[in-house]
Amino acid sequence: MGKAKIIDGKQFAANLRADVAKDVGALKAKHNITPGLAVVLVGEDPASQVYVRSKGKMTVEVGMHSYEHKLPDDTSEADLLALVEKLNNDDTVNGILVQLPLPKHMNSAKVLESINPAKDVDGFHLINVGLLATGGDAMVACTPLGCLMMLKDQLGDLSGKKAVVVGRSNIVGKPMAQLLLRENCTVTIAHSRTVDLAGECKRADILVAAVGQPQMVKGSWIKPGATVIDVGMNRIAAPEKGEGKTRLVGDVDFDEAVEVAGAITPVPGGVGPMTIACLLKNTFTATCRQNGLDEADIS
Ligand code: NDP
Repeated sequence: MGKAKIIDGKQFAANLRADVAKDVGALKAKHNITPGLAVVLVGEDPASQVYVRSKGKMTVEVGMHSYEHKLPDDTSEADLLALVEKLNNDDTVNGILVQLPLPKHMNSAKVLESINPAKDVDGFHLINVGLLATGGDAMVACTPLGCLMMLKDQLGDLSGKKAVVVGRSNIVGKPMAQLLLRENCTVTIAHSRTVDLAGECKRADILVAAVGQPQMVKGSWIKPGATVIDVGMNRIAAPEKGEGKTRLVGDVDFDEAVEVAGAITPVPGGVGPMTIACLLKNTFTATCRQNGLDEADIS
């Protein structure tokens, strides 16, 4: 079959951020509105700190206001809910993101449901999940939204394609499946209880792996020419780089898959960079909707 096309998520994300920056400029010029994104971080989780820092930096780079709220690990749930309520009522804040995971003494579901659905740029609120499932104007979870954009760029019309999503989490697998269904794919959702996972995958024109198992999807599971989106981000030991070193791999065995697939996202540099770019896109969308503007008319 030969080598697959490598889908460059880093470049795709850079282009998307440039488009958002252009739209933000036009929104300012035409309507004197600057979108604002508030990110709330509770505690000292190192990975979350890195995410929040890069979200803030990229928010400013596209011309939006970034408001960072860092709260200590022992913040009470009531205090966090009070902050969310304040942000819900703040007109300069168009998007609210509460960074997960939250400390164990907090009920994450309760906190997420306290966010105004119109400002829920992560798309995790039940209202947005319901709107996505019923064909309404939802805020869509960023990672699956990024995957869909890359798929449409690669394949154009997805109608009638057989799509298999491996993983059924609320943040990736399920919204991904809903998005593909909305594009008229025939969708299968596979998970840890699926019988003959390899056989299911092999029938897919579009295969999305969101499992959290390093290099689980083998080349022999892939239909020749299929488009493969690897959401997985797994850190594994890399003794070849030196003692104690690690490297990032996906849920797909890339070296095998690249020989069979038609196109594939690498890890790193595939889905990962798209997530923050889609967060910015969602913040722009939310700002337009809150101001009664049609996003398509802005730029
Ligand atoms: P979860 O752990 O919430 O869900 C994993 C899913 O995979 C579950 O539905 C589980 O099935 C299924 N699964 C686990 N093991 C197997 C197996 N052996 N065979 C078949 N199915 C299996 O993970 P997330 O959805 O949150 O994340 C998935 C991956 O994507 C992770 O590597 C994560 O790091 C990455 N990720 C990347 C992001 C990015 O920006 N690039 C963003 C979010 C996540 P069951 O339901 O039956 O238990």
